[in-house]
Amino acid sequence: MSDHAVLRVKGRVLVGPEEVRDEVWVVGGRITYDRPAGARDVRTVEGWALPGLVDAHCHVGLGERGAVPDDVSEKQALTEREAGALLLRDAGSPADTRWIDDRDDLPKIVRAGRHIARTRRYIRNFAWEVEPEDLVAYVAQEARRGDGWVKLVGDWIDRGEGDLAPCWPRDAVEAAIAEAHRLGARVTAHCFAENSLRDLVEAGIDCIEHATGLTEETVPLFAERGVAIVPTLVNIATFPKLAAGGEEKFPRWSAHMRRLHERRYDTVRSAWDAGVPVFVGTDAGGTLPHGLVAEEVAELVRAGIPAVDAVGAASWTARSWLGRPGLDEGAPADLVVYGSDPREDVAVLAAPRRVVLNGHILA
Ligand SMILES: [Zn+2]
Repeated sequence: MSDHAVLRVKGRVLVGPEEVRDEVWVVGGRITYDRPAGARDVRTVEGWALPGLVDAHCHVGLGERGAVPDDVSEKQALTEREAGALLLRDAGSPADTRWIDDRDDLPKIVRAGRHIARTRRYIRNFAWEVEPEDLVAYVAQEARRGDGWVKLVGDWIDRGEGDLAPCWPRDAVEAAIAEAHRLGARVTAHCFAENSLRDLVEAGIDCIEHATGLTEETVPLFAERGVAIVPTLVNIATFPKLAAGGEEKFPRWSAHMRRLHERRYDTVRSAWDAGVPVFVGTDAGGTLPHGLVAEEVAELVRAGIPAVDAVGAASWTARSWLGRPGLDEGAPADLVVYGSDPREDVAVLAAPRRVVLNGHILA
């Protein structure tokens, strides 16, 4: 299935959106642009090479009812790998998946610990469910457990109100975000609604997941402060179904979800136009299957983001945002090779010709 021979990738090596080379070598599992002297058993792969794709919002170790056994987590990671997603930002998981770090045949994971939600304000068994006075302590705990990120649930349905509503008072998120930053972790939050965004951004949050509630008022705030969004449009596509399911009990919530869904492309496009950093994430795990990274890139293009930038949002730009190398000299050889130029047509991302992880060529 795999080997560690010298590999030559030739054709078009997309080191960055503008930087293209004719070839790259893989020696000892690492990238080099120096042709190795006297190399034997050279295997050659031809095509358009990108750094391993990034799914910046998925969940490994999470299923519909909460944590899943390790063999299921392994399948989830392998499905991402087959899709060419070799760097995952795990946006919250109740399972301990640290063992994956010892497997050089599985994608690399940047973890956000376990979700932190308000009591009874999220999907059962997913999150730590806490009250505002305990938020700082839980943020500190998850900042220590994760890989530089902490994940909050910023808004969710309030059954009393019958609509989406912010989960935390302003002073609680201010203290929580300050504590995460003190511990060197960035903070992100799940937000569907409009009215949870301002407090979080003004409190110094680094990223918002979904961000369907962005408006003309909050887009400039995000742009000014460089707060990134991960729209997860393949997940937002399920809003009409969710809305139909909740129609009878929560008609206001249901109508709200439909409105957010209807304007989703405009929301993403106006954020992008204003200069808000946008990244590719699928929200796989929980309910959605893994391996949808190419579909999410196609969705961003549908929303109006230029193809080259949508590709970057799943590769070069996303890697640098997460502090991980791309096709740099000496970096682990994590790359994907395609039959044509993904900047011309992102549809090719759905059919990798070869996936190379830590220098291993995977069938
Ligand atoms: Zn998620």
